[in-house]
Amino acid sequence: LQLQAPSHIAMVPTPGMGHLIPMIELAKRLVHQHNFLVTFLVPNDGSPMKPQRQLLQALPNTISSIFLSPVSFDDLPQDVKMETRIVLSLSRSLSALRESFKALTEASPVVALVVDLFGTDAIEIAREFDVLLYIFFPTTALGLSLVFHLPKLDETYSGEYRDLPEPLKFPGCVPVHGRDLIEPVQNRKDDAYRWVLHICKQYPLAAGILVNSFIDLEAGAFKALMEDKTGTPPIYPVGPLTRTDSTSEVAGEFECLRWLDKQPNGSVLFVSFGSGGTLSHDQLIELALGLEMSGQRFLWVVKSPDDTSANATYFGVEKATDPFDFLPKGFLDRTKGLGMVVPNWAPQMEVLSHCSTGAFLSHCGWNSSLESIVNGVPLIAWPLYAEQKMNCVLLVEDLKVALRVKVNDNGLVGREDIANYARTILQEEEGKLLGKRMKELKNAAVKVLSQDGSSTNSLTYVANIWKNQRK
Ligand code: UDP
Repeated sequence: LQLQAPSHIAMVPTPGMGHLIPMIELAKRLVHQHNFLVTFLVPNDGSPMKPQRQLLQALPNTISSIFLSPVSFDDLPQDVKMETRIVLSLSRSLSALRESFKALTEASPVVALVVDLFGTDAIEIAREFDVLLYIFFPTTALGLSLVFHLPKLDETYSGEYRDLPEPLKFPGCVPVHGRDLIEPVQNRKDDAYRWVLHICKQYPLAAGILVNSFIDLEAGAFKALMEDKTGTPPIYPVGPLTRTDSTSEVAGEFECLRWLDKQPNGSVLFVSFGSGGTLSHDQLIELALGLEMSGQRFLWVVKSPDDTSANATYFGVEKATDPFDFLPKGFLDRTKGLGMVVPNWAPQMEVLSHCSTGAFLSHCGWNSSLESIVNGVPLIAWPLYAEQKMNCVLLVEDLKVALRVKVNDNGLVGREDIANYARTILQEEEGKLLGKRMKELKNAAVKVLSQDGSSTNSLTYVANIWKNQRK
């Protein structure tokens, strides 16, 4: 029996912790279960890359990373949309990527180039070096269905999608109103729309697409995508890929986990808007007063407000201000004992897996949604930007594991409503039902990732294709 040297894969993550975290999990599985070597080639968008570096540097030496030289965005307007910046960070890194890829593959031949959802411009590198390009899609099959239908929608309708009277119905998917489609298609005049459309048109060029979701979660959507004969590449559901690197060594340092230890089982509402999400100051105050009014226990990761953008911390720009300064006067004193507030960041996976956590008020980022699913924690869905409203529709209307917040005429989610959602999800029959269905999804998630489970099998299938690429 001859042991084969590991095959080598290159992965290219675009900016955003929500893209990097699941891609790292994919890399770990390829290394541990399929004996690959992985190198991350990281476009550098000029934002502080410290958290990215920390994550990548903590990995075993079978997963290495190279940060490409930074691109410049000096020519872009101040109010440039997040998606434009993400796409450009890759397309402006192409020559750096080409050089790094060349050096990499000369040292140890690369059998596949894996990019994420915004990385399809790297197709030209894959072609030049004659390697297969795969897309890692870190969100839902519903989102992927939109990708394949957007070019057609663009040709069919000339108005804004949010004005469509009827919801859109992609094959096998829950109907979605135009206003709930991804953020960058909400204004067709913006550059971000043009960039997203450009990316969508490249998807058929991929050799395959790995999706961070699983069959039981989106059976109809996956079936339709897999059976589509109009140029959709092979689709592989490989999720849920959620964080496995326990921060528990440092988690001991997190006071909030010790606080959770002292709370009754299933009694705490965890409140967090992910790495990028921010609220306006008025909304922050409404949320604080709503949590207080609810009389329920809560653990809230609070960030300084931003009145102009719902994703002010997406590129890792942590504000210099103290978030606690923006809370209503006396709030911390009045809620002491019942609630705990932590600034900026919490060990989310540990919080969600803690037995005291009973529900999660979330912005519905897909990683957060999956983390809630694998821990069986029902959601209050408060989507902000990106594809979060689509995720919310899937969670609320299709899977029925979440309550969706209502925005009032002032553009805010009101304090009474917030108090109501908190009580409903933690105390009432309706909340228990959401929790029961969430537990069913949790069990399904365990199954698909077990030996011979559907997601395990699809990853093995792709791994074998890649291993057979060795010349
Ligand atoms: N996260 C965390 N602590 C926080 C905020 C976020 O650990 O205080 C992690 C969270 O567990 C998830 C990721 O950051 O893995 C956020 O990804 P998601 O897709 O939910 O949202 P995004 O940040 O991309 O909007």
